[in-house]
Amino acid sequence: MEFELTKKQRDMKDALTQLGKFVIRPMSLQMDREHRVPEDFLQRFVAMAGSMRGSDEDVTAAFEDVKREPPSLDKPSQMNRTSLVGAEELAWADASLLLCLPGPGLGGPPIRGSGTAAQKAKYFGMIKDLEKQGKLAWGAYGLTEPAAGSDVAGIQARCRKDGDGWVINGRKCYITNGARAVWVVIFATVDPALGRAGHRAFVVEKGTPGFSVGKIEDKLGLRASETAELVLEDCRVPAACLLGGEESYAAKSSGFQTAMKTFDATRPLVASMAIGIGRAAYEHARDAVKDRYMLGRPIARYAAIVERLARMHRRLEAARMLTWRAAYMADVGQPNAKEASMSKAAAAQAAVKACVEAIEIVGAEGTIAKEDQLLEKWFRDIKVYDIFEGTGQVQRVVISKRILSDLKSF
Ligand SMILES: Cc1cc2nc3c(=O)[nH]c(=O)nc-3n(C[C@H](O)[C@H](O)[C@H](O)COP(=O)(O)OP(=O)(O)OC[C@H]3O[C@@H](n4cnc5c(N)ncnc54)[C@H](O)[C@@H]3O)c2cc1C
Repeated sequence: MEFELTKKQRDMKDALTQLGKFVIRPMSLQMDREHRVPEDFLQRFVAMAGSMRGSDEDVTAAFEDVKREPPSLDKPSQMNRTSLVGAEELAWADASLLLCLPGPGLGGPPIRGSGTAAQKAKYFGMIKDLEKQGKLAWGAYGLTEPAAGSDVAGIQARCRKDGDGWVINGRKCYITNGARAVWVVIFATVDPALGRAGHRAFVVEKGTPGFSVGKIEDKLGLRASETAELVLEDCRVPAACLLGGEESYAAKSSGFQTAMKTFDATRPLVASMAIGIGRAAYEHARDAVKDRYMLGRPIARYAAIVERLARMHRRLEAARMLTWRAAYMADVGQPNAKEASMSKAAAAQAAVKACVEAIEIVGAEGTIAKEDQLLEKWFRDIKVYDIFEGTGQVQRVVISKRILSDLKSF
């Protein structure tokens, strides 16, 4: 595995660090309080990202479908690693803002992985066209329901074939960018009794009759990011909205696999975001101990403090290695479900611990909300990283299932 970043990746990382330090962090607390990221900033960011993307096929592929050979050991891609490096740096600056960035978002991977050529062209094209017109456009991913979070197989939203289309009924909750999305990938079942085999995935466009937004959540952290409830009431969609087309569901549980494959791509990404927040907290604590004194000594002279710093740093670095490995495997076309879960489980825990310990090291000041002291905000932002995209427990279930299935062959 190659640890070096390419020059393009280094340049992107440096540009994002500067943007984060001088532009994003100074407005971070205000965005948190106002529950929004200013639209003019997002417009400028989209323009900047567009120019950074340039003709780099690897990065462009992260945003749209690019017809090319699948990656392999001989012809590796850099797409996943590039996304990870960018995600860590932006989350280091402000994780809510990262989730607010326009684009297909979590809806991208299922369309890229399971959509037909026509669906890819239509839904990625829709976002691209709006972007070209100077408008901001988002996609979203609607899987979770009030009674089906970790238990993905237990979704209750129903879909039934009706003439030349489908009718969907159900409720989706906690959907990132759900209210503003121009389309959402919605998972429903033809019959809950069929479990995974009953799952179907649809792309439902904003404005479709019967498709509406419920409440917008008021959250502990990531408060500038929109988290919405979506309601489908006799929502009729054309057959062309069924992701992958009807024949693709002949294989048992392919709808469920679409949801799962999304996680293989997004868990390392979410892990990188967690590492970005954890690193921000660790760096804050590291810098704070240098000029603080207790009993006449700089607190960095106390073994208990430096030991903690070393542990925080070590856990975050180890988590990054796991995360880059999961991305590397995706970039050379190898299955990475176990490694994606390992990276998410390790990164979320390392980062939650880094945020808790950073506040403990800094003391009371770490609990105060200030524009130039964001520990309190990072402490609130980080918790959900051990919950969404699969909780820590669920990652461990995924890992253990893979380990045990390996053992079965002995
Ligand atoms: C800010 C935010 C954004 C989100 N964005 C999206 C989105 O864009 N799209 C989307 O579809 N969803 C989204 N979600 C939902 C998220 O993915 C779920 O919250 C997550 O999957 C956990 O589900 P749950 O909250 O229902 O918890 P539950 O599944 O009810 O879990 C409750 C507890 O039981 C434990 N548990 C469950 N099953 C097991 C098991 N088999 N073994 C051991 N322990 C277990 C869990 O670890 C947890 O501790 C988002 C959530 C949040 C908070």
